[in-house]
Amino acid sequence: MKIGLFFGSFNPVHVGHLIIANFMATRTDLDRVWVVVSPQNPLKKKASLAGDYDRLNLVRLATEGNPDIEASDIEFALPKPSYTIDTLTYLQEKYPTYKFVLIMGGDNIATLHKWKNYEQILDNYEIYVYQRPDYAPGELVERDNVHVYEAPLMQISATFIRKSLREGKSIRYMVPDAVIDEIMASHLYQ
Ligand code: ATP
Repeated sequence: MKIGLFFGSFNPVHVGHLIIANFMATRTDLDRVWVVVSPQNPLKKKASLAGDYDRLNLVRLATEGNPDIEASDIEFALPKPSYTIDTLTYLQEKYPTYKFVLIMGGDNIATLHKWKNYEQILDNYEIYVYQRPDYAPGELVERDNVHVYEAPLMQISATFIRKSLREGKSIRYMVPDAVIDEIMASHLYQ
């Protein structure tokens, strides 16, 4: 089983994230994509960051009924802040027969050299990168374990969704209907 890990705060999840997750799950050799919701860092609490379980629940609603994509709370129980290498090590021990792949945008691979133990990540895990037009992905894309994909991109961000909600503006089509319903019912981001 080859699993793609798509990390983020997903505050909230939007169609830009879902398009990437679905692209990677269906057009590469990955069997599934796990959307890994990063927990709040208790030392850096941000008022605009919704609770861990609220964000997880929104990802669950967004991916419900899609067997290729699932929400993951794996980092909630790990020491914070969660470093990707530690999460990967933990997952590999917990699921020894699975192969884990990192999914990231060209913006993230460009700064991967600043991550904890990034050489260990590059040596031991494949990384599937999708291009982001405003970012030069840097030289790490040349590594054998890094594969670059041209996925369709939506110019949309969670920041824009939160701003729209604060201003009472519509977020229809930017976020799945089930997620909008839950945001409204729970008065998130408003
Ligand atoms: P914010 O606006 O709050 O910074 P975001 O929408 O960028 O949030 P994150 O939770 O940071 O969302 O995103 C998770 C991952 O998805 C990150 O690696 C980010 O680079 C990527 N991502 C975010 N928006 C898009 C998008 N529109 N298309 C492709 N990838 C995206």
